[in-house]
Amino acid sequence: MKYKQDRESSGEILRLLIQKMAGHPAAFTPLNYAVWYEFTTGINPALSQAMGGLLDDGKKLDDDAIENLYVKFVSECNMDVQRALQKDFQQLLSNLAGFTEETDKQAHHFGNSLQAYGDTLKQNPDTPNLVALISNMTGDTTRMRSSMHSLQSELEASKQQVEKLHHELESAREEALIDPLTGTLNRRGFEAKVQNILSDKASTDKGFCLLMADIDHFKKINDAYGHLFGDNVIRAIAEALNSKIKGQDSVARWGGEEFAVLLPETTKQGARAVAEQIRQSIEKGKIHRLGTQEQIGGITISFGVAAYSKGTSIVELLDQADKALYASKEQGRNRTTVYGQK
Ligand code: GH3
Ligand code: MG
Ligand code: MG
Repeated sequence: MKYKQDRESSGEILRLLIQKMAGHPAAFTPLNYAVWYEFTTGINPALSQAMGGLLDDGKKLDDDAIENLYVKFVSECNMDVQRALQKDFQQLLSNLAGFTEETDKQAHHFGNSLQAYGDTLKQNPDTPNLVALISNMTGDTTRMRSSMHSLQSELEASKQQVEKLHHELESAREEALIDPLTGTLNRRGFEAKVQNILSDKASTDKGFCLLMADIDHFKKINDAYGHLFGDNVIRAIAEALNSKIKGQDSVARWGGEEFAVLLPETTKQGARAVAEQIRQSIEKGKIHRLGTQEQIGGITISFGVAAYSKGTSIVELLDQADKALYASKEQGRNRTTVYGQK
């Protein structure tokens, strides 16, 4: 995690940035905030140099300029940025909510105690001036309460705005992990899942397996039936994979026509059985060719299986699954190979 700023200093940065961003025409998007955040904290030297140059030249940063900086210098750190943003906005949200409640409580309390004084003094006929005074004070309090109320509605409005931002961020974060064609995880999302499992001792103790799958002769399918049909095949394979896995397993589209599956708490034998079950169901399936009566069969996929063993890194594990997949292709496709087994 490259954002080390604590609550105080990140709050300070937030206030500072809103002022700075207001001097430029780009919209107040999370992306824009991420660029300014990294620039202001100085944690991204390449960005600082490029953006500093633009600002020194007196450039006003619009949406295009910001997007350009984001794509060039920030995007690979997308996940970290989004996490930091989410934290900032959550903090702002809870501060606002707390402040709103507190002010309202204080105003009520103030009003009630003055009212009580007024009542007491009213019973004492010798103090008419004091009664008048207290009644004035009660009037002041009512006004104070009404001004507190408008402050509260203002705070409520910003709270809603921040909540909206928070949701936008949340969906941006999810979108960044999802493959749009299949709705499964993408490579980044999958790697995050594998990292999670690797960093949790209880999970690594239980062991887990990785499947890599690749559609056989997919180029020929595209050539024979068109790219759109090819896309439908990719979607259908993703569905087949999804339908054969259990709750805590994850499927991802690893690349073009390649998939990866994470099977927690699964042995080599178990993983092979899952792969074989999926492979056979795909082999038997047929896919409808849109706009025709045709049902296309004979589509197959090859699998490679790797089992986690203590100390294996994510890169090694992926490499092992890939090697096993390659062996399946070498031996004629439409088969499953477990790394380290014949
Ligand atoms: P193999 O059995 O060795 O895996 O052969 P293959 O033809 O499947 O493998 P190759 O890697 O040669 O070709 C993969 C093809 O997948 C090439 C590319 O045009 C196609 N492809 C990649 N992504 C997509 C996509 O999103 N949609 C479609 N329709 N085709 C894609
Ligand atoms: Mg391939
Ligand atoms: Mg292929």
